[in-house]
Amino acid sequence: MKVLITGGLGYIGSHTAVELSSKGHECFIVDNLINSNRDVFNRIEMLGKHPISLMMVDLLDQKALADVFRRFKFDAVIHFAGLKAVGESVKNPLLYYEHNLMSTLNLLKEMKKANVKKLVFSSSATVYGDLSTPPITEDAPTSIINPYGQTKLMVEEILTDLAQSDPEWSTALLRYFNPIGAHPSGLLGENPNGIPNNLMPYLTQVAKGKREYLSIFGNDYPTHDGTGVRDYIHVMDLAEGHVKALIYLENNTGAHTFNLGSGRGYSVLDLIKTFEEVNNVHIPYRIVDKRPGDIAVSYADSSKAERELGWRATRGLGEMCEDAWRWEKGLEKSVDKTME
Ligand code: NAD
Ligand code: UDP
Repeated sequence: MKVLITGGLGYIGSHTAVELSSKGHECFIVDNLINSNRDVFNRIEMLGKHPISLMMVDLLDQKALADVFRRFKFDAVIHFAGLKAVGESVKNPLLYYEHNLMSTLNLLKEMKKANVKKLVFSSSATVYGDLSTPPITEDAPTSIINPYGQTKLMVEEILTDLAQSDPEWSTALLRYFNPIGAHPSGLLGENPNGIPNNLMPYLTQVAKGKREYLSIFGNDYPTHDGTGVRDYIHVMDLAEGHVKALIYLENNTGAHTFNLGSGRGYSVLDLIKTFEEVNNVHIPYRIVDKRPGDIAVSYADSSKAERELGWRATRGLGEMCEDAWRWEKGLEKSVDKTME
């Protein structure tokens, strides 16, 4: 298949591009480098099996996007591009609504014009908020607690409306749980700007000595050790889920929602302990106040993805920790934005 990957130089997009290319698909990446680095492209090409095209295009630039669709005929699109920092979305909601919604609308309009009607969309388990008791199934009620999550749900609704308006559209709305880990080569991984918000990139920076200690946000949650429980999923498993979703869309029209998680919940202390054991490093930590808006426990019921996509997560927590650490250790100055 000829696949357009928006945001293909980012964390999940880059791993997915390698996976698609390895499976023989032809990949075309558009990215505006707002949260990535040109060097990632060389690494994707090195790891993939086929040449990949890169276009430095901002999805907010409708004309440039129209040009992309004029130049190439795609079979499907995977849409990763967007802003994703929850805290920033609370401080600057207009930026998030404008960026994530306008870029998606521009993309959908160009897809429609070009008669490309297969789309895989990066949604998030954040749409479930705090209403449901895990394991969470796709029909659990949604409850939005920040503007970032609101943009994800709004795009899901737009895609559902689109599929209802025209039976030729096939869309997969993938609700990711907590992606961590890196490509086993150590050449691709997560490289956030500034101080990481998420647990794993913060933890790896502590392991490397870039940060003094890890702050654990609360230890009196109703969990086995008091710290928050999440469903961590290896980014390579997630990448494989996108390939399965594309194949599914070849034979299924309509809008289809899938949870992509491992189905297992681990606490912050579980993650620290596993990381220390498999990598033989020490992670200093301190217990601090809870982070506002955090929920106690979240993990997926991913049986629908297993049944309908033939996909399930196969990599365990130890492998996620090993791969994340290999990546962090090998981060060179050329791609290490936090050292700039
Ligand atoms: P990322 O920031 O690493 O990747 C996004 C990429 O999109 C970046 O390379 C960025 O430069 C590019 N981009 C952003 N806006 C653009 C625009 N207007 N035009 C062109 N390129 C643009 O993020 P990620 O972690 O790879 O996440 C990918 C998607 O998955 C996002 O939509 C995110 O909201 C969603 N998601 C991520 C997580 C997670 O924990 N990483 C969890 C759930 C959902
Ligand atoms: N967490 C933590 N310290 C950090 C970052 C996160 O204790 O520096 C906790 C957080 O409270 C949650 C878990 O780690 O229980 C995962 O947090 P992350 O931000 O990675 O994902 P999300 O909360 O969005 O699921």
